[in-house]
Amino acid sequence: MSGLGKGITAASIGRLLVDRGYRVVPIKIDPYINIDAGTMNPFQHGEVYVLKDGSEVDLDLGHYERFLDANLSGEHNITTGKIYRAVIEKERKGEYLGKTVQIIPHVTDEIKNWIRRVAQDNQADVCLVEVGGTVGDIESMPFLEAIRQMHIEEGPNLFLVHVTLVPIDKMGEQKTKPTQHSVKELRELGLQPNAIVGRCIKPLSRDVKEKISLFCDVPVEAVISAHDAPDIYEVPLMLENERFYDYIRESLNLEDRDPDNEWTEMVEKLKSLEDTVRVALVGKYTHVKDSYLSIREALKHGGIDAGVKVDILWVEAETLENNSDVLDELEFDGILVPGGFGERGTEGKITAIHYAREKDIPFLGICFGFQMAVVEFARNACDLKGAHSSEVAVTPYPVIDLLPEQRNIQQLGGTMRLGDHEVEVKEGTIAHMLYGKTRIVERHRHRYEVNPEYIDTLEENGLVFSGYIGKRMEILEIPDKRFFFATQFHPEFRSRPYRPSPPFVGFVRAMAGLEVSNGH
Ligand code: GLN
Repeated sequence: MSGLGKGITAASIGRLLVDRGYRVVPIKIDPYINIDAGTMNPFQHGEVYVLKDGSEVDLDLGHYERFLDANLSGEHNITTGKIYRAVIEKERKGEYLGKTVQIIPHVTDEIKNWIRRVAQDNQADVCLVEVGGTVGDIESMPFLEAIRQMHIEEGPNLFLVHVTLVPIDKMGEQKTKPTQHSVKELRELGLQPNAIVGRCIKPLSRDVKEKISLFCDVPVEAVISAHDAPDIYEVPLMLENERFYDYIRESLNLEDRDPDNEWTEMVEKLKSLEDTVRVALVGKYTHVKDSYLSIREALKHGGIDAGVKVDILWVEAETLENNSDVLDELEFDGILVPGGFGERGTEGKITAIHYAREKDIPFLGICFGFQMAVVEFARNACDLKGAHSSEVAVTPYPVIDLLPEQRNIQQLGGTMRLGDHEVEVKEGTIAHMLYGKTRIVERHRHRYEVNPEYIDTLEENGLVFSGYIGKRMEILEIPDKRFFFATQFHPEFRSRPYRPSPPFVGFVRAMAGLEVSNGH
């Protein structure tokens, strides 16, 4: 079922293989009909993750990029929408030669071909396919059927992992019934798992493993305990302890290689952090913590680098509407205003940014947070009263506006400025110090821009645009502050456990009271 941690389990299995030098190519299957996650509400699905080619995808792809240190593209995320679109396009072109087009074999062939094509094009040693959804859901049927066919076609080259929930009852006993039932469902579809990963709040006892082994017909070494961990980065270590690699290795006929321990060292460092800094994250989906998942991860990466733990204080933007007293009551070392869309919470975000600028509190703004920093500065430092973004309000000073080419777009999905784009960094700025170069690449997801007509006014009053590309402003900073920095792009998507994103490094260091540098 969703929320069980299939994505993290799969990413962690991938990590065990990457640690042994195997090339792992992940594919996430989302059985919904949407073509991609771009039009989905973060309230329901958590954040929309953006890949280098601009694909807007499920947040599990973010886990894959971070755990496997990969740079993926849209072909690594299959949805029912994409599969049906491909089948229908073929049908219209007459490629099915007059046959009746059916789920079996045409849709299932499309799924299998897609998986094999991505595996081959990326020279996979192991292709890691995660099928989202729950066994028995109508939506996931064609995908499970495709996997069933592959089981026969690929024989011992296919290894099927079933992730199940092992709840604990009032007496404190671990219950195997849900596992037994879902394995039964799988078998009815013709699938027999090679291994079962039991998700539980506590480690699975030997008894429970034996019971699952007996009822579900897998050897006891193939029943793996994946209990709750203090941090998701510890899951690969847990699977290592369960000797999961050894079992997979024998089945898939891989080599017995010694693992590289880069990941383990990173986790050791993370676990040893003692000092804590606290960031106030002022957003509007703060009760769905997954809506800002990559930001949370990037803060963690910055923390590992700076040697501090980063705690997040979630502040609902609407509570700050023209009322900064709320902030006086709270304790934090920095303020982060993340991306967002639409009007709700906007004034609260502007209040928070004003507070950070006036009181010289470290500030990081991302995308909408960058745009609101421009609005705040225009209103309060440039005498442009009532300045705003034309996304949010009709205003005499639209300091954030659409560029002419974005004005006539009717369709929503896929029409923003998306994915990796180059940015030029001005020498001698904080941005330059943090990145250490004058040309960078970062990921984008926005429609609005700093209005070129106001750039001179903003800069004359002390705002520095230290990153830009052509007429588009991409980074802003205020030089004489402890750290006041914002980006039009989303640096969180390229942040990795051992390669923290430079804006996050600067921000966390400033919060920790360290000198702001790139840390190296
Ligand atoms: N809503 C803003 C825009 O479209 C910012 C988007 C974002 O924060 N991702 O430009």
